[in-house]
Amino acid sequence: MTVITNHMPTAELQALDAAHHMHPFTANGELSQKGARIITRADGVHLTDSEGHQILDAMAGLWCVNIGYGREELAEVAARQMRELPYYNTFFQTTHVPAIALAAKIAELAPGDLNNVFFAGSGSEANDTNIRMVRHYWALKGKPSKSVIISRKNAYHGSSVGSGSLGGMSGMHAQGGMPIPDIHHINQPNWWAEGGDMPQEEFGLQRARELEEAILELGEDRVAAFIAEPVQGAGGVIVAPDSYWPEIQRICDKYEILLIADEVICGFGRTGNWFGCETLNIRPDIMTIAKGLSSGYAPIGGSIVSDEVASVIAGDEFNHGYTYSGHPVAAAVALENLRILEEENILGHVRDVAAPYLKQKWEALTDHPLVGEAKIVGMMGSIALTPNKAARAAFASDAGTVGYICRERCFANNLVMRHVGDRMIISPPLVITPEQIDVLIERAVKSLDECYAELKKKDLLHSA
Ligand SMILES: *Cc1c(COP(=O)(O)O)cnc(C)c1O
Repeated sequence: MTVITNHMPTAELQALDAAHHMHPFTANGELSQKGARIITRADGVHLTDSEGHQILDAMAGLWCVNIGYGREELAEVAARQMRELPYYNTFFQTTHVPAIALAAKIAELAPGDLNNVFFAGSGSEANDTNIRMVRHYWALKGKPSKSVIISRKNAYHGSSVGSGSLGGMSGMHAQGGMPIPDIHHINQPNWWAEGGDMPQEEFGLQRARELEEAILELGEDRVAAFIAEPVQGAGGVIVAPDSYWPEIQRICDKYEILLIADEVICGFGRTGNWFGCETLNIRPDIMTIAKGLSSGYAPIGGSIVSDEVASVIAGDEFNHGYTYSGHPVAAAVALENLRILEEENILGHVRDVAAPYLKQKWEALTDHPLVGEAKIVGMMGSIALTPNKAARAAFASDAGTVGYICRERCFANNLVMRHVGDRMIISPPLVITPEQIDVLIERAVKSLDECYAELKKKDLLHSA
C-alpha cells in the first residue's frame, strides 16, 4: 500500500482525493477536474497548503477555530486523556470526569437557569436532540399536540435529516426528502435583500410578527418552539434590525413557546460575549452549541437546557443519545479550550481590541464601488456585493456567480473569505491582532478590485 503523506506531489494527492473522497456540499465531478486545495498545516490565523502558500483564514475553518490553530495545550490534553480513558459512554447510569467537568463549566458560563447539558457529537446532532426534547417536553406536560417547531427560511441548523429540516435552505430541502413533518418556516429578517422600501426597524418588526401570525394560524396548542441563530451565519451573516429580537422575545413569552437559540456559531466569544443571546438580549430555554466549544480541535456539540425544561425531561426515560455523547477526549479538549478562552481573556480581546478595530475597517469597505452594505457583530461580518448600491440591486447573473469570482480572487490573494450567494462573509479566529486585521482588509480590498475588473471585462455589472 502507498503511504500517503504531506510530502507527495499535490497532483498525486489531488488524484487520490478525486478517486476516493466524497466532499460535503460539493459538486464532486467538477472538483475532480479542478483538484481540491490541500491544507497541510496551520498556526495562529494562518493555513499552509501543499504548495507552501500562507493563507490568512478569515473563516476560522468553518467558524470554529476561535482560539486559533496550533495550541499545544489541546494536543497535550487529548493525548493525556487518550492514555487515561480514551472512551467510555454516558448511557446506563455511568459517567466520567471530563463529561462532569465540562457540563459543570458550561453551566457556569451559560446565562440564567441554563444549567443542564445534553452532549452530542456535532451541532446537527444537538439540534436533532432539540427536536425530540421539545416535543417530548410538551408531551410530558400533557400537551402532545404541541409538536410544530417554527424556524426561518435561509436558517442553517445542520445537515442531518432533522436539523436540515429545521434549517431553511431550499437547496437542501430539494434533496433527500426534507423537511420532516411539523417544521414551519417564516421569513428571515434580511433587510438588504428583502426589505424593499420599508425602513429597517419597521421591517424588523414585520418579520418578527410573522412568528405571531404563524402561531395564531397553526394554533397555540400546536406550537412547541421557535428556533433561530442570534445572527444567521451560513445564510450570509444576516444581522436582524434592532427591532427584531425584542419583538421575538415578546411573542415567545406571550404564547409560552420554547425559544431555542442556535449558538453553534455565536457561542464562545464570537459576538464578544460567551453567547450571542447575551449580546442580543435574548432569553432562550435551550441553546445549541458546537464549533467554538472545542475551537474545532475535537468534534463535540450539545444542548444547554433550562432548569425548567430539564426537570420535566427528568421525569421520564429520554430514549435518546449518541455513542459519543460527552466523549471523554472531546470533552477534555473542550474544557481546555474554555480554560484558554477564559484565562487569556480572549473575550476581552474581542470586545476591547479586535472587534472595534475590525468593525471600523469592515464598514469602510462600503467605500468600494462593489460593496453595498457592510454588517458586523463582534467577529462575524458580511458585505453585500451589488451592481447598484442606491437600488440595493442584485446582479443579473445567477446568484453566487459574482460571489464565487470574488472568492476565487481572495484565494489567489491568500485570504479565505467565503461567499454566500453574492455576499462575502468573514468569521476569523478571535485571537486575530490589529496588524493581521490590516492584512485581512488589504487582501480583501485587492480581491474586490480584481473582482470588479473581472466583472467589467466579462460584462457582468448589470442589475437584475
Ligand atoms: C455549523 C452549524 C450547525 C451544524 O453543526 P455541525 O457540527 O456541522 O453538525 C448548526 N447550527 C449552526 C448555526 C451552524 O452554524
